[in-house]
Amino acid sequence: MGKEPHHRQLLYTAHVRMFDITVPAGASTLDHSHDRDVVTVALGPTTLRTRQPGEDWSAPRSYVPGSVNVTRYTGGVAVHRMENIGKTPYRVFAVENLREKAWSMPQLIKAAGTTLLQQDRSFAVYEVRLGPSTTRTSHVHQMPTVVILISGSVEVQGGGGESVFRMEANGRWFPSQWDQPHTLTVVGESPAHLVEVEAR
Ligand SMILES: [Zn+2]
Repeated sequence: MGKEPHHRQLLYTAHVRMFDITVPAGASTLDHSHDRDVVTVALGPTTLRTRQPGEDWSAPRSYVPGSVNVTRYTGGVAVHRMENIGKTPYRVFAVENLREKAWSMPQLIKAAGTTLLQQDRSFAVYEVRLGPSTTRTSHVHQMPTVVILISGSVEVQGGGGESVFRMEANGRWFPSQWDQPHTLTVVGESPAHLVEVEAR
């Protein structure tokens, strides 16, 4: 995935790798391979189809902002290309869990405004929605997590006396490490929507 020109690497740690994948309307990627379980998080609305070498295109799939898709690849290799058949740029973040096996089972988070969207052997994916009725959430991730803003604005307070910062634009993100707490507080009148990808 790292050498495909539409994939831009954003993060590479011992445990997690993350890419920004942007494909203009009507364009397609080159064939590229996956060998680690991956979560994709749609930043905008998108319609795409995929094709494996020597096969036909898949049926088109549409995503709304914040849609997530968990795919298992670890233990094998899959090659495909994708084509953006929508009218807007295709933009997703793809988060890989680099572990080959022995995934952990962190405790599921129960916190205000925070909902488990999907879980699998290598990920738990949460959605956070904040607004007038729930303005703030505070929780601890036992495992490395990428927090992605889909819409709205939030103020972020990390653990260990780190300074407060704001995320105000679609696609802003930050990584949090093992056993790291954070508090997210909605800013302004619009509701805030985030997706958190926790690598197991
Ligand atoms: Zn979180």
